Amino acid sequence: MSRKEQREYRLETLSVHEGVYKDTAYNSVTTPIYPSSTFAFERIGQHKGYDYTRSGNPTRQALADNLAALEGGTGAWVTCTGMATFTTLGYLLKAGDHIVTGKDIYSGTIRFLNTVLPTHGVETSFVNMSDPDEVRKAIRPNTKAVLIETPSNPLLNIVDIAAITAVAREHGLLSIADNTFMSPYFQRPFEFGVDIVVHSTTKYLNGHSDVVGGAIITRDAKLGERIAFLVNALGTACSPFDAWLVLRGVKTLAYRMEAHQRNAMAVARFLADHPKVKKVYYPGLETHPGHALAKKQMRGFGGVVSFDADLDKVNLDEFFARLELFSLAESLGGVESLIEQPWTMSHSSISEQARTEGGISPSTVRMSLGIEHPDDLVADLRAALG
Ligand SMILES: *Cc1c(COP(=O)(O)O)cnc(C)c1O
Repeated sequence: MSRKEQREYRLETLSVHEGVYKDTAYNSVTTPIYPSSTFAFERIGQHKGYDYTRSGNPTRQALADNLAALEGGTGAWVTCTGMATFTTLGYLLKAGDHIVTGKDIYSGTIRFLNTVLPTHGVETSFVNMSDPDEVRKAIRPNTKAVLIETPSNPLLNIVDIAAITAVAREHGLLSIADNTFMSPYFQRPFEFGVDIVVHSTTKYLNGHSDVVGGAIITRDAKLGERIAFLVNALGTACSPFDAWLVLRGVKTLAYRMEAHQRNAMAVARFLADHPKVKKVYYPGLETHPGHALAKKQMRGFGGVVSFDADLDKVNLDEFFARLELFSLAESLGGVESLIEQPWTMSHSSISEQARTEGGISPSTVRMSLGIEHPDDLVADLRAALG
């Protein structure tokens, strides 16, 4: 479906049709995988749109067009991992530049900002992004970018995207939003003024826990050209096979997100009343401090729920072992439910002090609810908690 023909289709429709292109040789209804590393020229200076797969590939382009449409961007670049999006964006900056971001963003991004970018002379300040004033105070003359991630991981704090991008604009800073946790079905950061949206497609966009990937999406054509140049020059693009998997996964995004959210809400409500649970973190609960803001900028609350277990009453190892439907695993966003202890797993790469300051303790448990039946998930948790 070309952009020209496109009416005002809704996300459910775009995710199935946008970018998907059908081969004219056999009239396939899905996009073929083109593993070809190179494409023949018809004559000097003339080819059919692709010359070399690092620079561009029809299968990867189909996914890029799809993701750009879902986020409401004008261009997208699909990378080999979520982290490769930050590797790429890091090269928009130069030695002496400075970034402001949240204290509780994805731990791999913290590691990148803390240990990799400084070797290139780029520094980062980590602040409590729930307070736009803290962002404003952290801005220096050399600050170039603000990185937003909302809801945060694993405690699901909400950042006011419009307020932060307003601060960024006042100071002429680039604003970047990592939209992995919500997917464009529940949150579209461009609507609140951000310049760049990034995703780990490993999570909800692919949704089947069988590929790692990332995406960078832009609205401004000039910025898009720069990203296209960097992805090609750095070699951060994904393989055609991986792009094909994500393109297949994304078609059911809307229906998966509804199911993830239904399950998250059921589990959050169950845990909130459980005597062995001290605190539940889910923005869909009225008791969550970010609930009102979440309702304002999100169309749903997502599929991740965290809680603090009462360790006097629950042995986490035994609890995890008794669960039948939850795998003890990092990551999130797949059709199957996962559970993990951020302290020793997803967040172990950040310092103990940073974890404690961020409100994470050994009693914190994070779940990614899959698309199973909510009653089965609640029953599994009930039985395992005892
Ligand atoms: C997983 C994740 C990433 C990193 O993505 P990879 O595909 O694992 O490289 C970045 N941001 C968030 C919010 C994530 O959940």
